[in-house]
Amino acid sequence: MANTLAKTIYPAICISFDDAFASDRLVAYEKMFVERGIKGTSNISTAKIGTDGYLTWAQIQEMYANGWDFQGHGHTHTSFTSLTDEQIETELQAIDDACVAHGIPIPIACSFPSSVYNEGIRTVVKNHGLLAINLTNMQGVELNRHNLDFREGWLHRTGWTGILDLNTDIGFVNFKKIVGKAVNRREMPFFVFHKIVDGADGSDPMETNTDQFAALLDYGIDQGAQFLTFTEAYNYLKAYREY
Ligand SMILES: [Zn+2]
Repeated sequence: MANTLAKTIYPAICISFDDAFASDRLVAYEKMFVERGIKGTSNISTAKIGTDGYLTWAQIQEMYANGWDFQGHGHTHTSFTSLTDEQIETELQAIDDACVAHGIPIPIACSFPSSVYNEGIRTVVKNHGLLAINLTNMQGVELNRHNLDFREGWLHRTGWTGILDLNTDIGFVNFKKIVGKAVNRREMPFFVFHKIVDGADGSDPMETNTDQFAALLDYGIDQGAQFLTFTEAYNYLKAYREY
């Protein structure tokens, strides 16, 4: 029994998008779910839903019905470092309330707005029953250590800028290296993007070029990786931990 699940470990990729930009539906969802049948995760700031440039609740409900995952990214996207513990709790509760009101599950995780946090913030988020998505700035295994006790090196969080700027040739090579190695080791790279934009040239670090993004998806598919949402990844790793 003990090794039954271990034998079924497969390489996987988890892709999420911060902020709930409209491009999550207009580009990312189209490229992933509609064209390739794979799912992703949007980390949403619920106060922005339905405002110009962001997802609408109708889009979120449609995406959710097709297996897309939604996690929290602060209700108003105010950096938690500028809020009191009570105000942070109010932000987290507002996300839960908005999700309940619109018929999608309350998040199991929080992606900190602007990726800033400290020990006190982590405690507030944890006490709200949430996992933290972006506990390190760019990469590492903090997510494992503090929340899920994943095995060291099992899950890598990676950002979208610098050497991993997918808009550059070197960035794309580095992405492929991460995916290739993860597939070999049956690990799970966890990528965080913002906007997927046609013709993006790297001048805006929030933007990732649509063609490069699609090429990364195809590379992962060619390598035999499965694409998991954050919730799927959490459940998969939890089961793995418990086997
Ligand atoms: Zn953000």
